[in-house]
Amino acid sequence: MSSQACFDLHSHSSASDGALPPKALVQKAAGAGVTVLALTDHDTIDGLQEAAAAARTTGLQLINGVEISVRWQKRTLHIVGLGIDPENPALTTGLQSLQQIRRVRAEQIAAKLEKIGVKNVLPRIDALAGSSQITRSHFARLLIEDGQCKDMKQAFRRYLAAGKPAYVSSEWVDLETAIGWIHAANGLAVLAHPMLYNLSAAWRQRMYLAFTEAGGDALEICCGHSNTQQIEQTTKEALQYGLMGSVGSDFHSEEQRWIQLGKLPALPSALTPVWHHPRLAARLQ
Ligand code: AMP
Ligand code: MN
Ligand code: MN
Ligand code: MN
Repeated sequence: MSSQACFDLHSHSSASDGALPPKALVQKAAGAGVTVLALTDHDTIDGLQEAAAAARTTGLQLINGVEISVRWQKRTLHIVGLGIDPENPALTTGLQSLQQIRRVRAEQIAAKLEKIGVKNVLPRIDALAGSSQITRSHFARLLIEDGQCKDMKQAFRRYLAAGKPAYVSSEWVDLETAIGWIHAANGLAVLAHPMLYNLSAAWRQRMYLAFTEAGGDALEICCGHSNTQQIEQTTKEALQYGLMGSVGSDFHSEEQRWIQLGKLPALPSALTPVWHHPRLAARLQ
């Protein structure tokens, strides 16, 4: 048996838009050789308890996480919180406010899809999502089921991406507030997939400055979406802003074949891994 640590600090379960229930996700991660997994569902910590129970039976170490939707400069950014206390009231009430925004947004997206001829959207989305947080991925699944789109990519490109007919922009929460919730809950704030926002280099600098000034801790350097050149670039940028580095697949489902649990390049050695921060290291004995 290998004793090598394998970190995957960004993943989704069916508490938001992942395909697998938390228990199955943890078992799959353990089977793939992950030794430290963070479950980071969109704006919810509902999956953490089930994941923690599963982790105890597999020997994998679970880090309590969340991926918070943030509004910054008329864009949405994702801030991953790692090592959070799921009982912290600032965090739990904050997440409730985002869940409220998600509900209202789901109703607005449903109305837009009805206008372009999709039938019975909201009841079917509610049935599809159950008690999960409703995300745009759920709407994409509905459009695929209806034969309107052939895959997720097409559903976003045609209907759900910014500027498309079923897009609704949301206020979410600002960077300072989201990072404040994470820190109040004793966690560390990671700017998720910095290269996925389609920002120019100048706008990325503005984003890093805002994130750093708001108290952010780390950049996600190696993720399921990043290539070698992006890893090199974001490593330089993390060093420039004095940020630590994190790694996480952003696994959602088997359908995205190119994104696998734990299958990530090593974090460049120039960076301090976020798991070396005393607040996380203390829990990873
Ligand atoms: P939401 O937070 O509800 O706006 O949904 C965002 C989620 O939609 C992301 O976390 C991804 O899982 C998914 N998503 C966004 N864009 C795409 C895309 N082009 N193809 C597939 N999934 C996407
Ligand atoms: Mn997602
Ligand atoms: Mn994200
Ligand atoms: Mn994610």
